[in-house]
Amino acid sequence: MPSPSNLPLHFHRDRTERELDARLDELLAKLRKNRPSEDPWMVRRAYEIAAERHRDQLRSSGDPYLTHLLEVAHILADMRLDATTLTAALLHDVTEDTEFPISRIEERFGVEVARLVEGVTKIGRLNMMAPEARQAENVRKMLLAMVNDVRVVLVKLADRLHNMRTLEYLEPAKQQRISRETLDIYAPIAHRLGMGIVRGELEDLSFRYLEPESFLALQKEVSDKAPVHKIFLEEVQGTIRSKLVENSIPAELEARVKGLYSLHRKIMRQERGLEQVYDLLAVRVITDSERSCYAALGVMHHIWRPVPGRFKDYIAMARPNLYQSLHTTVLHSGQPFEVQIRTQEMHRIAEEGVAAHWKYKDGKPAQEDDQRITWMRQLIEWSQELEEPGEFLSTLKVDLAPVEVYAFTPKGRVLELPSLRRATARAAIGSALRSPRTRAAKSAIGSICRNAKKPRRWASGCWRRKRATSAAALRKLQKKIC
Ligand code: MN
Repeated sequence: MPSPSNLPLHFHRDRTERELDARLDELLAKLRKNRPSEDPWMVRRAYEIAAERHRDQLRSSGDPYLTHLLEVAHILADMRLDATTLTAALLHDVTEDTEFPISRIEERFGVEVARLVEGVTKIGRLNMMAPEARQAENVRKMLLAMVNDVRVVLVKLADRLHNMRTLEYLEPAKQQRISRETLDIYAPIAHRLGMGIVRGELEDLSFRYLEPESFLALQKEVSDKAPVHKIFLEEVQGTIRSKLVENSIPAELEARVKGLYSLHRKIMRQERGLEQVYDLLAVRVITDSERSCYAALGVMHHIWRPVPGRFKDYIAMARPNLYQSLHTTVLHSGQPFEVQIRTQEMHRIAEEGVAAHWKYKDGKPAQEDDQRITWMRQLIEWSQELEEPGEFLSTLKVDLAPVEVYAFTPKGRVLELPSLRRATARAAIGSALRSPRTRAAKSAIGSICRNAKKPRRWASGCWRRKRATSAAALRKLQKKIC
């Protein structure tokens, strides 16, 4: 049998071309399945142009450049996005790398695809600037693009995800820079958009390059215990399944082990060992209705005693990124584990976030009412007041990982205050009290705005120590707000 190196060159080329074509067919099949009414011609045509324009380019891995474009499109197809987004994904590097002008994209594919490609290109075009300024400017562009059409950011996130998956082929300095940026900016944006799966993978990949020793140690620790965890999770799932059947609550179960980066962060923050992380192991109960969620919760607490202070009702009070579930921690033969109870719809939103609900209204992307996008709009509004890019970045990091604070008005309304920034705080209160713009709301806004003028002191003085003194902080807040 001839060794591969003895084969004529065209054989290799033919083989890769066949592989690429097969991957394209899979992409088109996904589109047909998810969106049967959409015409795939645009995607096929975009593929042909990309293949033509990137013909002689290779990735650092040695693969044809086209593999990157196809994989980015696949990530988006798996999120069930539309033909327009997949087309833009295939063309996202064509203007920058091959000087194919946006105007020609518009001619051939229409204004929507052109705008998406332009948005993605703009985000990546700022390489000439100083690192700090460049990053801040990138983020600003990204937020602006996101407000106009969130699909721009979805393409950019998919692009970053595939680049992170293939980061091993780059030199160490680049790996560090890209991972840092991913962890500081892209993963938090995915989180704010509610995209749990993308966020988790971005975090774990960045963690691997930024702190390889901690990553490997923790990975080993977790994988050493994997067989024990597996048996444990099967056992408790068996119990849960039979009890739910007994109570006629329909449900699918899913076991999950916490992601390495979020595990690492928790261990660092709580200065605890792996075994003391209560939600290292979790079982998800996915059921049909809200009513069944609460019924299932009752069943859980009937089987096992709940750990005090660990129950959270994110159904009644959704998180700012619209995540909903009931969380409770219970003990089974001395081992704590978390039960997460949600409906199928909540499950999809937890995993895919904004992508799960992305849809058209009257031929335009419908996102006016989405608070995940509203947050971006406020951040931009607020960022325009700032001059220093560094200041923008450091405050952005706070805004991307907000401490969630809930406050109650005397009439029992819940105010969710996602951060202490003036603009966001104002908006949070505004939206919490949207319809009846009462006097209480107005004075609350006034008080937040006054206090937010000294954001840092205000933060350390009251809000950020919320964890330690949450009851006291809430009382204080209540006094100020109501
Ligand atoms: Mn790319």
